[in-house]
Amino acid sequence: MYDGTTSYENFNSARPWWRTNIFTEIVTSRDGIGDLRRLLSERTARPFFIVDEILKPQTAFAPIFALDRKFVFDASYSEPRTHDVDRVVALLKNERDMPDAIVGVGGGAAMDLTKAVSICLANPRPAAEYQGYGMDMERGPDVWVLPTLAGTGAEVTPIAVLRGPEKKLGINNNNVAPKMAVIDPALSAGAKKFNRFFSMMDCFFHHYEITHSGTSAPDAVLDSRDGLNIARRVLSCDLSEFDADRAAESAVASVLGGSSSIGGRVGVSHAISYGLSNASPHLPHSVAVAISMLACGGVYRDGGLEDTVKFMEINGIERPTAREYGIFESHIPGMTRTALGMEKLWLSHFGENWRDTVNEKFVSDIYKKIVSV
Ligand SMILES: [Zn+2]
Repeated sequence: MYDGTTSYENFNSARPWWRTNIFTEIVTSRDGIGDLRRLLSERTARPFFIVDEILKPQTAFAPIFALDRKFVFDASYSEPRTHDVDRVVALLKNERDMPDAIVGVGGGAAMDLTKAVSICLANPRPAAEYQGYGMDMERGPDVWVLPTLAGTGAEVTPIAVLRGPEKKLGINNNNVAPKMAVIDPALSAGAKKFNRFFSMMDCFFHHYEITHSGTSAPDAVLDSRDGLNIARRVLSCDLSEFDADRAAESAVASVLGGSSSIGGRVGVSHAISYGLSNASPHLPHSVAVAISMLACGGVYRDGGLEDTVKFMEINGIERPTAREYGIFESHIPGMTRTALGMEKLWLSHFGENWRDTVNEKFVSDIYKKIVSV
């Protein structure tokens, strides 16, 4: 259970602060790259790395970029696409010796690609055929992760979010959960403020929505309450300059984002965000949810919208609009269809009778509001 605050100084001695059972061994570290390499050399023989290209200019990551067995992924372009997964899988299948661990270094996108590559290595079909829930899949090489941004706990979740030819949807399978996460909050020191801010915003949205969910497990809701308090505290600060103590708190909130999403379910602004994401391939997920929350004041009446506006003001972040990502009125019917399909999320917020409230008009009215700004 999380009690109080975490500083960078005491991060290494932090005790498990989540209630939900997670599949991942977490090593808290103040020398993340050193600890990762030490643990890999002790426990694996042939690790293969998937590294976010954005880290290349940062000297801290030079030892990773110097490795031979790696794939450098440009995560700034979009979430990992199913054909990115197929490409890395084909590359690895051509090698004589399969890796015994796939190591993801980067933010959520790099970690999701790592998870998907691991499981697809052990299963015959292309990645797009595994997007969804409850499929029988063999386990691949162990997944290890070194997160370089704090967000919604990709470092512990059994989900690999992918953008496919038809839809943005995860491979949801316990076999994609990382076996090991080495977490060093200082690794986000070189991230742009925009990325640090919006990944924490998504953390806030996840926790906020799970605390409003009627279908989430009690432990998940408790983890989200803790995470929500921390995310609020972090986002109430100006994040222009990197601060190690705030980064430590963000790392704590991110793991809670992952643990709470194992038994918990997000709600309305996430449902709306999926329509936006499908309409615009380059719209980052966290920005899509922010745009949605800004239009969901009528649904969340206890401060979700007001907090979002406040955090943006404190951080001098302009309100993002759908228009700047190429989303217009003509997209509304398609977005409405996508969002209406997110039944579990509507159920999470409105309960069994969600259809009494949520219909085509309800959803398209929200999108009309979104495209009008
Ligand atoms: Zn999210």
